[in-house]
Amino acid sequence: MSNINKENAQVIKEKIEKLNEQKRKIEFEIEDIIQTSMPKFNSIWNTVGSWDCKNSPIGVCVYNHMEDPALDDCLYCGKPDERK
Ligand SMILES: [Zn+2]
Repeated sequence: MSNINKENAQVIKEKIEKLNEQKRKIEFEIEDIIQTSMPKFNSIWNTVGSWDCKNSPIGVCVYNHMEDPALDDCLYCGKPDERK
């Protein structure tokens, strides 16, 4: 029934590996931008959230995961990362 034969599976696997590699590069790039563009919070303790943030220079919420491990308090707008 399955149309995923061994050859297709290999192709899919390689595609996913490539995409994962790109994902890692993008994550590194984002991290790099944050670390270099935000001198005020230029530390290894900053984490990018997943929400748009008008106050943030990078447009998304940023958290200090050392002081705020639950990501409850964006450095710019004070909103939590976890929202409904
Ligand atoms: Zn924010």
